[in-house]
Amino acid sequence: MVSRETSSVFDVRTAADVVATKLPLGDDNSDETTPLAREAEVTVRARFDARTRPTLARPEHTRVMVVANQKGGVGKTTSTVNLAAALAQLGQRVLVIDLDPQGNASTALGVEHRRGTPSTYDAVVDGTSLEEVTTRCPEVDDLWVVPATIDLAGAEIELVSVVARESRLQKAIAAHPRVGTAEEAGEERFDYVLVDCPPSLGLLTLNALVAGEEMLIPIQAEYYALEGLGMLLETVDMVKAHLNPRLVVSTILVTMYDARTRLASGVADEVREHFGDQVLKTTIPRSVRVSEAPSYGQTVMSYDPGSPGALCYLEAAREIATKGVPIR
Ligand code: ADP
Ligand code: MG
Repeated sequence: MVSRETSSVFDVRTAADVVATKLPLGDDNSDETTPLAREAEVTVRARFDARTRPTLARPEHTRVMVVANQKGGVGKTTSTVNLAAALAQLGQRVLVIDLDPQGNASTALGVEHRRGTPSTYDAVVDGTSLEEVTTRCPEVDDLWVVPATIDLAGAEIELVSVVARESRLQKAIAAHPRVGTAEEAGEERFDYVLVDCPPSLGLLTLNALVAGEEMLIPIQAEYYALEGLGMLLETVDMVKAHLNPRLVVSTILVTMYDARTRLASGVADEVREHFGDQVLKTTIPRSVRVSEAPSYGQTVMSYDPGSPGALCYLEAAREIATKGVPIR
């Protein structure tokens, strides 16, 4: 496989870089008298920078990334929608496939997912084309969504008797006219397809692992964080051996990191010891703004672009894009 396609990408300055840099305060318009004033200025500048930032180079072919971890509440959905929005802000065309019957990713991206809405269920169970059930995210340009309805809950059982039941999603994605290389799919191709998995290792997650070439595992920075990962990695090995030899765990993202606790940094160290370079340098802080955004049908990227959560998701997205496709 081709490697590091986008590694030569120019030096993009993100809002996070701006915050990390000591800003040259003290000019006529700035107020350095209080920490609050300084913070406000940092936020304003970060927002301005987010709007004027140059875009990143696009990968040569659609990167299909599966966001999975059978543990619930580790930040799969939050990371899927915010990374998707951040990648779109960085000039990438992104498709999010909601594969969790709860439809939380659909909610956060502001798309309809009532029963009867054309959805992942139709594509995976009935064989409707993915293009037909793809809808535009109203909040973010260059972001598309395949919503999940509660019907998907039945798919785990309905799929059992279906032919080639593990590769339904893979076929659906591969048949999408906007998936592939620049030659196959043209300028309008998706650069990223992110699949948000349910919190289980059933047939739906299996379908995602067969469909993807990269896997992103969010790990919550808390006690027991690594528990259950063994089983997840065994499943990945099984899929690699029998169903999808291209699958690589390319990205680990530490989420809900609380810098004030020693536990969080201990967990992050342990994760890095296990996974090395696969772990993104950027960790996602625990932040109220991140958890509030979905109730407004928004990602934190549009709900509060200058907040630490948004800046860190932007930085994480930049890392993913600049690291490029992993060597196999
Ligand atoms: P999963 O999809 O793995 O079940 P979610 O993304 O739904 O996990 O996150 C679980 C809960 O934690 C949600 O209520 C979400 O709003 C919250 N959450 C996720 N990431 C953060 C964060 N960085 N800061 C604060 N709350 C978060
Ligand atoms: Mg979820």
